[in-house]
Amino acid sequence: MADKLNAGAELMELLRAGELLASCGNVLSWDEQTVMPPGGAAHRSEQLALLAGLAHDRRVDPRIGELLSLLQNDAGIEPLSDLGVTVRESRRLYDRHVRLPRRLVSELSRVTSLAQQAWVEARRENRFEGFRPWLEQVVRLKREEAEALVRPGEELYDALLEDYEPRMTSREVAEIFAPLRRELTLLVSAIDSSGHKLPVDLVHRSYPVASQRVFVKHAAAAIGFDFQRGYLAESAHPFCSGIGPGDCRLTTRYDERALNTALFGVLHEAGHGIYEQGLREECFGLPPGQAVSLGVHESQSRLWENLVGRGRPFWRHFFPLLKQTFPGTLDGVAEDDFHAALNHVAPTFIRVEADEVTYNLHIMLRFELERALLGGNLAVSDVPEAWRQLFQNYFGRTPATDRDGCLQDIHWSAGLFGYFPTYTLGNLYAAELMAAARGQISDLDSQFARGEFGELRAWLRESIHRQGRRYAPRELIERAIERPVTAEPLLAHLWGKFGELYGISRPAVA
Ligand code: ZN
Repeated sequence: MADKLNAGAELMELLRAGELLASCGNVLSWDEQTVMPPGGAAHRSEQLALLAGLAHDRRVDPRIGELLSLLQNDAGIEPLSDLGVTVRESRRLYDRHVRLPRRLVSELSRVTSLAQQAWVEARRENRFEGFRPWLEQVVRLKREEAEALVRPGEELYDALLEDYEPRMTSREVAEIFAPLRRELTLLVSAIDSSGHKLPVDLVHRSYPVASQRVFVKHAAAAIGFDFQRGYLAESAHPFCSGIGPGDCRLTTRYDERALNTALFGVLHEAGHGIYEQGLREECFGLPPGQAVSLGVHESQSRLWENLVGRGRPFWRHFFPLLKQTFPGTLDGVAEDDFHAALNHVAPTFIRVEADEVTYNLHIMLRFELERALLGGNLAVSDVPEAWRQLFQNYFGRTPATDRDGCLQDIHWSAGLFGYFPTYTLGNLYAAELMAAARGQISDLDSQFARGEFGELRAWLRESIHRQGRRYAPRELIERAIERPVTAEPLLAHLWGKFGELYGISRPAVA
């Protein structure tokens, strides 16, 4: 027994040290994207490569394998205890890491770094041909990676999805997505043909950046992002980085003529941050203290951004404050009109500019294409045309250029196949969690209207944040909502809200 105790302690120490090292890399990455001068790029990439290599060596340390073998068949370890969860989850990751040949790991790192540069240029010049050979190499290497990792009965794509949404298969994703796609295309065309125009110009008035900074920081603190243990900076591409206990970094960008950009950007990243700040600090670097998946992470950001922040009760409290923060800008504007402006729906070719309704269609298009690429059913050279056809099917229009089509996202050049579906899973999980929270807390809307968000946050903390990786992502959500995950709560939310805003109603579907 003493042996097992020592083995458990030694395993946790090794894992924690590896994550400590990785978290040093996170500080450097955050610095790179916020304050580093351009001249520092080459040196920084050497620093990051060194840390990445050291962290990888620690993750595949044979001693971890020995300790896991010693511990994993020990019937005395309660499976859902911190040690039990640590052993189960580290075994899963350790096995994945050691199955990847070192040559493949470094080849992928080299090729994706060059492919990203080729992508930047190809996008700028709107020339897919410049990116095609690089994408072919990335797809070939990712297939090789998937072949090394895939389990019997799985698609190659599943092996990559596992990195972002553990224990979810592409078939399960496709099953959840199907009804969503059917109804979202109906909703988009109903909005299109409603002839209703929302007063979107209200959010494009002049909103001085200095005042935006004050307002968004206040809103993030109000929903519960702790600035004693967190920080908000600026970067070209907003993100959230959990450095470690007591230190969570957010970034955003400001646009004087587009209030939504920083406002919802910060609520989104603060949602990620509240998850990071809600993790068990004493379990830093260990599965019981780590976020469970990208889909669940995204559910936290989308919940605060869309289901709370774009809702009417939220603005009952914040609209008077907003008016005070920008004196004269919204004189005579009614709260309902302002709320409508925030929720304006307009199909766009660009995913990151998409509204709450059309966003998921962008994701489903990418999921379908990358699954076909990995499955060998789509050649890289056919991607631009396949993109145009699918876009026409989903949105009833076709992008005129590849820059507005298959060249718009960085993900594929970076080798991130299997990442996209987690955005929509996040939206689905968020709607499920919000519906369940409403069922369990009776007066959430009146709390929001008073600017009180603590009860919802506490519910999320207990049901999601403090669970770490105790359960698989989908199981974690299903335990919180006490039923199976479906697309229905998200659809009910979207039809309800946009039905009211655009004067349309959900058709009875057989
Ligand atoms: Zn996010």
